[in-house]
Amino acid sequence: MKTAVYPGSFDPITFGHLDIITRASAMFDNLIVLVMDNSAKHSLFSADERVKMIREATANLPNVHVELSHGLLIDYCKLHEIHIIIRGLRAITDFEYELQIAQTNKEMSHGYVDTVFLTTSLQYSYLSSSTVKEFASYHADVSHLVPAFVEELLKEKYK
Ligand code: ADP
Repeated sequence: MKTAVYPGSFDPITFGHLDIITRASAMFDNLIVLVMDNSAKHSLFSADERVKMIREATANLPNVHVELSHGLLIDYCKLHEIHIIIRGLRAITDFEYELQIAQTNKEMSHGYVDTVFLTTSLQYSYLSSSTVKEFASYHADVSHLVPAFVEELLKEKYK
């Protein structure tokens, strides 16, 4: 059984994330979407809210499981015997950051984990959780960027 983990903040989940999840879930027997609860990052949605949102958004994908981590990604991977990390790449700006993290994770885990990059589908290449929040905070229509129930939750937050 090949299992991969797709870690991220997912604050909130967007159609860009869902595109990566759908494609990765077709490549592996199991895909764990791992919400990283990183105390250094201020998030709009709580970790539990983000887990719940992703579970709802991926309910149609039976081999996708959503979990929460408060610690280091490589510790999670070792504990659960997962060797493959999935990350998405949008633009060259992502590449520099992602390359550094991927190499650090490989080095710090002594080669236990490797990172597989999936390039964004073109229609989502501009899409990020931060821009969704920015637009939603001004009550703009974000229905083409996130699932309808996420848009409703954003409206609640910015009421
Ligand atoms: P993080 O804070 O860990 O970067 P994000 O939730 O912002 O968490 O992103 C998680 C992963 O999803 C990252 O690898 C990011 O590059 C990727 N990603 C985000 N938006 C998109 C998109 N529109 N298309 C492809 N990959 C994306």
